Amino acid sequence: MQSDTVDTSCHAAIAEAVRTEARRILSDGTVTAVIGYAASRRKGSTQPIVITSVDDADKLIFSAACVNNLAVYLTKAKKDVPRSGRIGVVVKSCDLKALVGLMGEAQLKREDLYLIGIPCTGVLGSVLQPAALLTTASIASKCCECTDRLPPGCDFVPSVQLPQQPRLEQRYTDEIARLEAMSPAERWEYWKEQFSKCIKCYACRQVCPFCFCEQCLCDRNRPQMVEQTPRPAGNTAWHLVRAMHLAGRCAGCAECERVCPMDIPLNLLNRKMARELKELFNSEAGFEVRDKGPLNSYQDDDDQSFIR
Ligand code: SF4
Ligand code: SF4
Ligand code: SF4
Repeated sequence: MQSDTVDTSCHAAIAEAVRTEARRILSDGTVTAVIGYAASRRKGSTQPIVITSVDDADKLIFSAACVNNLAVYLTKAKKDVPRSGRIGVVVKSCDLKALVGLMGEAQLKREDLYLIGIPCTGVLGSVLQPAALLTTASIASKCCECTDRLPPGCDFVPSVQLPQQPRLEQRYTDEIARLEAMSPAERWEYWKEQFSKCIKCYACRQVCPFCFCEQCLCDRNRPQMVEQTPRPAGNTAWHLVRAMHLAGRCAGCAECERVCPMDIPLNLLNRKMARELKELFNSEAGFEVRDKGPLNSYQDDDDQSFIR
């Protein structure tokens, strides 16, 4: 299939606006640090950066290689960071959904953050070849179905016009439809085969903003809750625990899927779970701070059909 180039000409203006805003909020004391993206060692690649000085604002960039969901730095790492004031953070909409979810779970307070929102044309699906052009083939699957290219409710959003997108195929929707057309036995075989590839590296857990438990159930060995060696039964247990733990919470940032070295379609499972929760409980993760998710709140008219 021939792929079309995605117009990313707005990235230079976005990067310049982010640098200018970072300088302003650091110099006037609005924030004590800004978490954003900087150029990395390999040509075209990027990495997260935390800056605390106006002089470092020049390091901030934005490009299609800015894939990381920076929300993760506000959960796992925050215990080691002395609370020194409000933090600025660069967010795409999919990252913002994670931050909003974390606010609902009392992990973060809105007033402690200064949100620098990115008008987003999409990011690369893989950063193994970071200098690659953003095209309809190289764009991340999550971006093909994104309806939130302008993050709402941010403190600052660069004022740029988002270009018209070429037609993007709905990869998750198509794949979910393909799986739903299978018999339960065929679906089970599909997921068993996917889970059998897992090497239990836990990269998916480490990158997920919602996996912030100080001790993960899957690391417990007295008693052991989930087998830790990568074998079929333990792998299935790990993936079911993970899917259930994240159901109704997952922001769909697809970071878990991006970092999986075994190419397991984790976000396909996340999206399927999200669809189930929408259908059963009319609940979806988004931009509204909610203190109770669909699986930890009870309504008299909740659908009980799954336990009949
Ligand atoms: S899912 Fe949307 S907001 Fe997130 S990177 Fe893709 S286009 Fe941007
Ligand atoms: S489960 Fe995956 S897609 Fe969902 S929030 Fe965590 S890293 Fe993002
Ligand atoms: S990142 Fe992939 S291989 Fe590693 S534990 Fe998660 S699913 Fe398994």
